[in-house]
Amino acid sequence: MNELMDRPIQFVKGVGEKRAELFHRLGVHTVRDLLHTYPARYEDWSQIVSIAEAPIGEPCCIRATALAKPQEHRIRKGLTLYKFTVSDGLSGMHITLFNTKYVAASIRAGEDYLFFGTVEQRFHRFEMSSPAIAPAQGGQQIRPIYRQTAGLNSAAVERTVKAALALFNGELEADALPEDIRRRHNLISRSDAIRAVHFPASHEALNAARKRLVFEELFVLQLGLLRLKGHNRSKTAVTIATDCSEEFKRLLPFTLTGAQSRALADCVRDMQTDRPMNRLIQGDVGSGKTAVAAGVCYSLIRNGWQAAMMAPTEILARQHYASFVKLFENTTVRVGLLVGSMTTAQKRRTVEALADGTLDLVVGTHALLSDNVHFASLGLVITDEQHRFGVGQRAALSSKGRDPHRLVMSATPIPRTLALMIYGDLDVSVLDELPPGRQPIATYAVGSDKRERVYNYIDRFLSEGRQGYIVCPLIEEDEEELPSDLMSAEEYYARLQSTVLGKYRIGLLHGRMKGAQKDEVMRAFAAHELDLLVSTTVIEVGVDVPNAVIMVLENAERFGLAQMHQLRGRVGRGQHASCCILISDGRSEETRQRLKVMTKTTDGFVIAEEDLKLRGPGDFFGNRQHGLPVLSIADLKGDLQVLHQAQEEALAVSRRDPSLSHPSLAPIRDMVARLFAAVGEDGLN
Ligand code: ADP
Ligand code: MG
Repeated sequence: MNELMDRPIQFVKGVGEKRAELFHRLGVHTVRDLLHTYPARYEDWSQIVSIAEAPIGEPCCIRATALAKPQEHRIRKGLTLYKFTVSDGLSGMHITLFNTKYVAASIRAGEDYLFFGTVEQRFHRFEMSSPAIAPAQGGQQIRPIYRQTAGLNSAAVERTVKAALALFNGELEADALPEDIRRRHNLISRSDAIRAVHFPASHEALNAARKRLVFEELFVLQLGLLRLKGHNRSKTAVTIATDCSEEFKRLLPFTLTGAQSRALADCVRDMQTDRPMNRLIQGDVGSGKTAVAAGVCYSLIRNGWQAAMMAPTEILARQHYASFVKLFENTTVRVGLLVGSMTTAQKRRTVEALADGTLDLVVGTHALLSDNVHFASLGLVITDEQHRFGVGQRAALSSKGRDPHRLVMSATPIPRTLALMIYGDLDVSVLDELPPGRQPIATYAVGSDKRERVYNYIDRFLSEGRQGYIVCPLIEEDEEELPSDLMSAEEYYARLQSTVLGKYRIGLLHGRMKGAQKDEVMRAFAAHELDLLVSTTVIEVGVDVPNAVIMVLENAERFGLAQMHQLRGRVGRGQHASCCILISDGRSEETRQRLKVMTKTTDGFVIAEEDLKLRGPGDFFGNRQHGLPVLSIADLKGDLQVLHQAQEEALAVSRRDPSLSHPSLAPIRDMVARLFAAVGEDGLN
């Protein structure tokens, strides 16, 4: 039975080469892919309303008799209308169809039909344009609506799914969920769920199908994550005998905050046991995660091990490198750098020094993952802003040592509910305290008509010797119909020269620049050889220039909340009062809300919660930034309870059989592999 699922989509009746091509564009290649293409939503044809009581302007279903055959009206080449009148016995309604000869021809006078669409009222006359039509008898009550692609509408997908389901008699494929789990949570079989999710007989049937599929998806996801994270932690030889934190603190030019000290102590305690540390330090921008990381490295290195820290960008890696070099200047700790833009000879020197143990600490980018990078005694792996790395990338770096300790640092405050998902088995230390002396960042939202005043305001700060940023949204090359006021960073930079700010030293930073160019600009800005930096979002993460005190975001409506928060964190890092100005002419309610949240709070956790409310979890889970697979049915906000259940069951299975090697788990193991194959994770088979 299973082999039917793996047949190419052409195998299904009605799918020729052309249609198959369209399906391929949807990522649908096999019968399985097709059956796993779930409806995006449903139309409820079971609630029938009378014409007179139809909610005007909202989709609804009406049962009525066709009074005559549709009349053809050829308006012009390519536009033919079909008009006819229907009645539900009390009121009449005019129906117009566009270019649908086939549908129009199927309508017979005197027959009853269901019309699903939007009723409009014009001069006491009810009208419906291009409704979906079905015979009144024996029609589907809840109809699936699939996502459309050019040339493949929902009805076509529906027909194909129906034809595909007709290929099977009985079970579609073996049920991957263990029987006892199904029973405990009242889950229907996979075959029933798939049939019902496409063609539900009732709302209850749809709910049962959804619950089953959501559970399964989250269960599989959790199992995959548990395997990647190595929940069943092995022992490690990397233990440290001496806590060197006090010695480390004397190296710092400042006193650690209470939160920093606690986080450092958490990590040292972890590393003193014979289990690898697996800890997340979550701290808002500017909370001083780097200093904690340095302290963790210091104790480990003084105990004879090497540490590696991976940052998502070269700018960040170089910045960490520079601050570590300075911090460890008068110690025995030897620090190296490994980033893509270094010359081959430079890279080779770092690689050799890591392999022979001359270097104690290396800071780098993805370059650290190269096959030729080996460590003499890697004992600790740190990933900065780790949500930007795939789970697999983190694992790849760890595999360069023998069960090294792992520390991840995240500046994106993640709502607790979702953190559960990403960081399921990590221990967490929270930096909930900012270093002393920080001035709050005053934030204002203004329209673009105030731009000149904003420039004058910037002028005031710069003339006092401070620095500032102006951030323009990233413009995608293929973006059509740009709003007329949207400028690329380059254009913006050019125009700025003829304003009141033209007298300052202005730098430009954007993503198309080479790594070395970017670094040079950043270096110059950090050294105060530049007063103002015009930039795209490349400065988003981590960059630390305490003298920068003003930030302007142009076209602020184009930024997500979390992103604005990250950007704003670039200022307010020193002793000076800072401010952030959001320029936007965006009128939508969502934009207004977002800007309001920004002006109201600087607390990253509050902002993350608001972001979740405004945009749903898509922002956290819909893209691949976090390195998680994209889910096809589960919605992590609405399905939280199922998530908990699935998580618990996955944990239990994984404890019993961490590699899922029992034959009865084979189908689940395949599913885990398939789900994670999409994110390019290996090591799951
Ligand atoms: P983030 O948590 O955003 O990575 P950083 O580690 O870059 O923050 O620290 C932000 C700034 O605060 C840096 O300039 C750092 O030197 C400084 N800093 C960190 N901890 C303290 C502290 N305890 N007291 C004073 N300044 C600190
Ligand atoms: Mg940082």
